[in-house]
Amino acid sequence: MAPQLPALTLEELSDELGSRTRALALLHWLHAQPTLPRELPARIDGLSHRAWKTLREKTVWAPPLHVAEQQSVDGTTKFALRFGDETVETVRIPAKGRDTVCISSQSGCTRRCAFCATQTLGFRRHLTAAEMLFQFMVARGRNVVFMGMGEPMDNLDEVLRAVNVLTQSPAPQLKAQSVTVSTSGVLPGMLRFLSESKASLALSLNATTDETRAQLMPHTKTWPIQALLQALRDDAKVNPRREHFIEYVLFAGVNDTDADADRLAGLLQGVPSRLNLIPHNPFPGSPYRPPTDERVEQFHARMREHRILSLVRWPRGREIAAACGQLALRATAAA
Ligand code: SAH
Repeated sequence: MAPQLPALTLEELSDELGSRTRALALLHWLHAQPTLPRELPARIDGLSHRAWKTLREKTVWAPPLHVAEQQSVDGTTKFALRFGDETVETVRIPAKGRDTVCISSQSGCTRRCAFCATQTLGFRRHLTAAEMLFQFMVARGRNVVFMGMGEPMDNLDEVLRAVNVLTQSPAPQLKAQSVTVSTSGVLPGMLRFLSESKASLALSLNATTDETRAQLMPHTKTWPIQALLQALRDDAKVNPRREHFIEYVLFAGVNDTDADADRLAGLLQGVPSRLNLIPHNPFPGSPYRPPTDERVEQFHARMREHRILSLVRWPRGREIAAACGQLALRATAAA
């Protein structure tokens, strides 16, 4: 299959165009477009006509169709984008000049977390690196999180390529520490990601015992909590400046007790990370409920007493189903 233009690296473009200067000009042009053209122009400044024509003929340019766009009262925007046969959701979360783009890596998901709306879609297909990059080019931001639909570690070749292109010069040139890839805890993929990428990892821990974790995330019971956290500790020896995230979704009566908070603090000893506490975002059919705001605050306070660097991620975009774990094309189907 012909390669997709947005997923080519600077080196690959330099080879194809026969010059690094032309490749730089093309990348500048590509990432400066305010809206994605449906078709590529016949000429681009800084590129010889012939080299550009050859590259255009050899590669595919297939930007998504905008199926829907919704904005929540807090400014969060959810895009429904159609790539050929599949529609996926991408979210932009605004923050004073440093917007975060939340990218989907699969249509549906290969994993089956009991508390996540995306799993109700089943697994449809992996997205290509170009499809991930197009999501970024539509939503635009200075930070990227791979926390939309899908399990990135199950589509790692494409995710690594997308991260590579996102962080390359001259554009879009995101900082490696501004790109975070989130995983439900697929250990072999995590180890490969940590050795091959400079970006950050977010581990969705969500429980403090392997029993509770197996109920919430049955597909990851192969890998015990301790083994997942050890991977982050080991990485700290090789990359002492890299910081990771631990995601902990709070469910009423499941993982939100003081005993959980104490166990969590114990587990995180020596793990160089920031903890994000995420009250469960409910969706129709979810068997779980979020704790009360007061309980969330108490859990947070207890983590602070244990001197664990932590933040509560109060939901953004919940009423348009754009918050964590709510991406399931519901609003899109109605649109
Ligand atoms: N598969 C990856 C990335 C997608 S999920 C992963 O599991 O990390 C992104 C984040 O949303 C994860 O931390 C996950 O635990 C969280 N999440 C999933 N469903 C949720 C829900 N209903 N409410 C709150 N957070 C949820």
